[in-house]
Formats: sequence, C-alpha cells, structure tokens
Amino acid sequence: MSLSPVLEPGATLGVLGGGQLGRMFVHAAQRLGFRCAVLDPDPDSPAGLVAERHLRADYLDEAALLALAEEASAITTEFENVPAQALRRLAERRVVSPGAQAVAICQDRALEKAHFERCRVPCAPHVPIDASTDLAAVPQRLLPGILKTNTLGYDGKGQRTVSDRAALAQAWLDLGSVPCVLERRLELAHEISVVLARGQDGQCIQFAPFQNHHRQGILALTLWPAVDVTAAVQAQAAAAARAVAESLQYVGVLCVEFFVLADGTLCANEMAPRPHNSGHCTIDASDCSQFELQVRTMAGLPLPVPRAHSPALMLNLLGDLWLAGGQRPVAPAWRYVLALPGVHLHLYGKRQPRPGRKMGHLTVTADTQDHAHRTAREAAHRLGLAWP
Ligand code: ADP
Ligand code: MG
Repeated sequence: MSLSPVLEPGATLGVLGGGQLGRMFVHAAQRLGFRCAVLDPDPDSPAGLVAERHLRADYLDEAALLALAEEASAITTEFENVPAQALRRLAERRVVSPGAQAVAICQDRALEKAHFERCRVPCAPHVPIDASTDLAAVPQRLLPGILKTNTLGYDGKGQRTVSDRAALAQAWLDLGSVPCVLERRLELAHEISVVLARGQDGQCIQFAPFQNHHRQGILALTLWPAVDVTAAVQAQAAAAARAVAESLQYVGVLCVEFFVLADGTLCANEMAPRPHNSGHCTIDASDCSQFELQVRTMAGLPLPVPRAHSPALMLNLLGDLWLAGGQRPVAPAWRYVLALPGVHLHLYGKRQPRPGRKMGHLTVTADTQDHAHRTAREAAHRLGLAWP
C-alpha cells in the first residue's frame, strides 16, 4: 500500500460518530491544531458540540458523506456499528482508517472469533447459532453459557446468560432469533485489555494492558498498570493483540479485550476498531493518550512509544449516579471530588442521564497504585458511588 501524505496541523480530520470517544478524539486533534468535522445525526452529540463542523445527518446520507469527504483530509470512526457502506463510500474519496474490512470483522462476533482463531489466539469455546435448528445440536459442554447476538451488542446488551437448553431456546427468542454465538460461561479470574496503534507504515506501538472490572456487563473500573495479572500473561496478551492487528493490516487504534482464567490461561473476548473505555486513563496517566495516537495514525504522523508516568484508576460515571435521588435527575456535587488531589473529571456534555448511560469518567493519578486506589475510594464515597 502506498503511504498517503502526512497531514500537518491545520488540516481537517473527519470522524463518523459523535459520542464521547469522538469528543475525546476531537479534543486531542484540536490540541494538535487540527480542525474536526463530525458526522452524527444527534444535534446534541458530545463530539458534535465541540467540533468545528457538525454534519447532522444519517450515516448513509449521500450528501453528508460527500460533504465530509470534501471537508476532511482523512476520516476515522469512533464506533464500530457505523454502516460499512458509509466507510466504503468515503474510501472512494479519502483515506479511511481503520478500513471497512477491519471494521466489518469487529462488527460481528462470529467473524471476530474466526479472526482470533486464524491468528492462533484462543477464545472461549463457542458455537454459532444461526437458526433454531442449531439449538438442538449445542454440545452440553457449552452450558451454562452466554448467548450473544453477532451484531450490535455493547455494554452487556444483546446477551443472555443461559443455564440449560430450555433457557437457551427462550433466550434465542428473546434476542429476536437473530444470528448469535453461544459461548461457554467461563470462570474469570481477571479481565484485561490491550490498546495499540498501528501506522500506515506498519509500525505498531501499544500501551501496557489495562485491568478491568465490569458490573452488569458495563465497565465500572480500570486499573493501570494491571496489578493482579502476571507479567508473562500481560506479555502474551500484548503479543496476541499485535498478531490480530498485523493480520488485519490494521491502521488506527485497536483494542482487544481478554479474559484471564484461574489457571492463567488467556482467552480473547472481543475487539474494538477504535480507542476504548479502558484506555481513558491514558489521557491523564501517559504522555501520549490513545486519542492522540488515533489522530497521529490518521495523519500519518510519528508514533512514539507512550510513557506511562503515573499509576491510575478510572471509574466510569453512569447515568444512575444522577438518578439516585429520585425522579428528577440531579448532578453530583463535583466540588467535593475535585478537592481530592490527582482527580481528573471528564464529563461528556450529555444532557439526559439514563441508567447505564456513560455520562463521564473520573481518573485518579497518584505516585503509587495503592495511593490512587485510596483516593478513588474516597472519591466514590463522596459521590455516593458504590465501589465496584
Ligand atoms: P460487550 O460487547 O457488551 O462488552 P462482552 O462480550 O465483552 O460484551 O461481555 C461483557 C462482559 O460480560 C465481559 O466483559 C465479561 O465480564 C462478561 N462475559 C462475557 N462473556 C463471558 C464468558 N464467556 N464467560 C464469563 N463472563 C463473560
Ligand atoms: Mg466487552
């Protein structure tokens, strides 16, 4: 592949999707002197609110795609469920990274797992469920399991835990009888993720793995560096993530999520063709964030190895926190947490808090992981946030 010309600050970068990941991308791009154009139908989209240009239109709106391609010198996406057709249309005129083919694999759990296996990266034992006739053929060893829709699932949505065949049949109906995978429910010792950036020239750099705690399928807390996972397992995860990116000829920021089982075995769970919630602490705890790396890969700028300068702990702030008091949403009194040293508050500018909706996050940096932990606990206490 011939390398596209380097884009210098002053150029316009385009992004499909206007959520919080787009917003943090825009912040990083603007800091480097780039202009940003965001395509998102929502007039209040977090990224649209801060970009120089917000194209408020559907992702398949021809005129809007044309306008984005005209305005932006390079284009990326901030969520994986952008129609592949939109990426292909844009790629006719501009460099789009990651490419439609890589995004299409990340959009579909079955393709994703097939890709992991192609790269010899183990994943949870599973079978595809494409039709009701597949239900009877499910091997007993996959139960209890988790039935997951192949597409459009996120934050634990689009999946059901099933203990037996009757529950499996019911879950398949509940999920709309769409193509799914059934995975064996594993006993997880830990969860980690690897975020990497790969340039047009194939240079690949990565952050040390993040250690993640989920609650009800949604990321609640990230520790960085990971404290409970051995260096050997972390190195294995880093190598696996790199192999996955290499074989996709990936350009951009990629996250691969892993399960660590009790015996130290690693299983790839899923991947995201973009910066990831678990990597948010790189904004405050590293000298180059995952969002700046996204900007650099798009612009063809150098990718220096980031240096993590502070242990960090990230807490997600979900809409539930605004709704805890009763019917009317009430914003937490931020001044009490902002009084704590090393607390970095990030709010995404979303007006409507809803249960499970990601409204912001809080990163605590400190001289030691233990210190960050103690401050984060105190911050959670002051906010009335249940400690994960
Ligand atoms: P999502 O797209 O919603 O993030 P995931 O597949 O990552 O979907 O599942 C969300 C969370 O559910 C995981 O981070 C993990 O905590 C739990 N989980 C998912 N699959 C399994 C499994 N096979 N065994 C045990 N826990 C699982
Ligand atoms: Mg996940």
